[in-house]
Amino acid sequence: MLLIGSHVAFDKDQQLVKSVREAISYGANTFMFYTGAPQNTKRAKIQKEKVKEAREEMKNAGIEASSIIVHAPYIINLANRKEEEKYQFSIEFLKEELKRVDALGCKYLVLHPGSHVGEGVEKGIQNIQDALNEVLENDSSEVKILLETMAGKGTEVGKTIDELAEIRNKVQKIKRVGICLDTCHLNDSGYNLEEFDSILDELEAKIGLENVYCVHINDSKNIRGAKKDRHENFGFGTIGFDTLLKIVYHPRLQQIPKILETPYIDHIYPPYREEIEMIRCKKFDPELFSKKGKDC
Ligand code: FE
Ligand code: FE
Ligand code: ZN
Repeated sequence: MLLIGSHVAFDKDQQLVKSVREAISYGANTFMFYTGAPQNTKRAKIQKEKVKEAREEMKNAGIEASSIIVHAPYIINLANRKEEEKYQFSIEFLKEELKRVDALGCKYLVLHPGSHVGEGVEKGIQNIQDALNEVLENDSSEVKILLETMAGKGTEVGKTIDELAEIRNKVQKIKRVGICLDTCHLNDSGYNLEEFDSILDELEAKIGLENVYCVHINDSKNIRGAKKDRHENFGFGTIGFDTLLKIVYHPRLQQIPKILETPYIDHIYPPYREEIEMIRCKKFDPELFSKKGKDC
């Protein structure tokens, strides 16, 4: 069965209940959320009652709790250690975040590996490994940290499969570290998504496809190799509908949740209901957003 959803909000009061309802309103059967604002580290305490309520609503809607994904905030940076205090803060935040993810009953936490900010790729990789080892050392949950493939903007680490494999290979609890693919990022970092099978072959050889647990399905505003990271709506960018659709339905990624992180229309209207509809119909509609909510 196709597992398709989008990024949704997490309300500080309604918590996961609000996220589930938003996902259902898009016709999704999975979703991804941040436990607070993506750009800061202020987090509310997880309420058990709300988790129960959300679970109930998920069950009724046929959403498998085990498929939903949490995303760590962007400002967590494990790759740079020039300012020890900031580095330690990121480590402590991640330890707490793993506990929240576990309390929410989720299994996966997507993480941007980080930016080395002048320390160089090798040192950046070393910093990430040290941090992950510390974060995981005393964590008794089974939550997996999924390193996301990055666009290579600025000094981002994790822009190639080799870099991700290198980070992962030196983590002691290696089974607790998986991969999240992002189609926009792969394109922007230079991978040709029209030859997606060869990307999967490389992943299989260097990391193992069984360690890929999530795919972010975004089109890109920029050409391959641009190192930019600007997401575009599904089928409206340089990757295009057919190439993205093949990835969504790729037999080698069948059981893996596909998550849209595409931009809101005019900054206010979420595109997810229409994009999911189009993906299910397998037919591109260039006028999609001018006839909101129309079925195909
Ligand atoms: Fe991300
Ligand atoms: Fe992403
Ligand atoms: Zn991105």
